Amino acid sequence: MKPKTKLIHQGRGDQNAEVRSVNPTLMRASTILFKDHATWQKYKELRKSERVLSYGARGTATNFELEKLICELEGGYRAQLFPTGLAALAMVLLNYASKNAHFLITDAIYGPVRTICDKFLKKMGIEVDFLKADASDVEEKIKTNTKLILCESPGSILYEIIDLPKLCKIAHSHNIPVAIDNTYSSGYFLNPLKLGVDISVIAATKYLSGHSDVTMGIVICNQKEWQNFNELPEDFGFTTSPDDVYLVLRGMRTLDIRMKAHEKSADEIVEFLKTRKEIKTIFYPKLKSHPNHEIFIRDHKGSNGMITIEFNDKYNQNDAITFVDCLKYFSIGASWGGYESLATVTTPPRTVSDWSHRGPFVRFHIGLEDTKDLIADLEQAFEKIKK
Ligand SMILES: *Cc1c(COP(=O)(O)O)cnc(C)c1O
Repeated sequence: MKPKTKLIHQGRGDQNAEVRSVNPTLMRASTILFKDHATWQKYKELRKSERVLSYGARGTATNFELEKLICELEGGYRAQLFPTGLAALAMVLLNYASKNAHFLITDAIYGPVRTICDKFLKKMGIEVDFLKADASDVEEKIKTNTKLILCESPGSILYEIIDLPKLCKIAHSHNIPVAIDNTYSSGYFLNPLKLGVDISVIAATKYLSGHSDVTMGIVICNQKEWQNFNELPEDFGFTTSPDDVYLVLRGMRTLDIRMKAHEKSADEIVEFLKTRKEIKTIFYPKLKSHPNHEIFIRDHKGSNGMITIEFNDKYNQNDAITFVDCLKYFSIGASWGGYESLATVTTPPRTVSDWSHRGPFVRFHIGLEDTKDLIADLEQAFEKIKK
């Protein structure tokens, strides 16, 4: 089955039922009932290895359908749902935390991960080193106590690209598992587990839900790392609302057409942005000038709706703020992956590379509006800050 068909035919409940609805049942539950004590005990055993009903917090039939669908897409063994993408990333870090552990994290990681490192991991005595955004310095930074490599590719805000098969080969030769934040490709345009990565983390908040009305995170593991990861989320009482799961499943049915539409519109907007003399740099991995563009093309089936621009030296932070304030169809707001366009003045959080003398930067999420309207909107905003 091709991925596009999986989106339509997987995760839809019992396909052999004689009578059924198109969509899986929305099952809300805390208590699950068992017909007798022996059955209860049987399911207590079963749940150690299989996805079966046992208690609402362990997931209901609705949750299981989303887990199945995302595992099918990512080529994973099992998936665990979390209330947010950040909670999913936090649990991955926590799972590999141990006394005197050392973690390596790439410089372009989703910004709030740094807060977990600074506020929590440090306190636990866990040492964190950051790698270059493209992870090219991994070999020299691995230590004997390195327990996890967490990366993101394309990276947050500037879309730096990592050669994942190469990174995994090095990591695995030292017995270190590799986790990736795969939110950019959302399990569709890149399947990192197929390139050797052990754990894929996706903020379903973004493209999987696609409608800016739900937050959720998903961790997808290969079989080996699932044995490590299996128990902790349950031990900590993490759960996800079946209503939210239902919304994500509903969003995913149109993931293929939405992602391709975001990409096509972003391509058109990039062509327009190339003509603007206000801009010094366009960050978009499909551009030949983008660092590691050939690796992006080799491993990815597409880009998404994210574009970041850097204004030229004539423009300062206030000009960038005026620019986004003048936009009519691009709204200001965190997150992305919904149907609507967004624009935010931003600074890439990096510590290995120094971007302090660069910018100002504006990050766009290109939504599903008509690109003619979006281009006209950008044009009028550029006119307002003309120098
Ligand atoms: C948004 C985002 C997250 C966090 O997702 P939330 O559901 O908002 O917590 C994680 N990683 C990346 C790359 C993101 O863009």
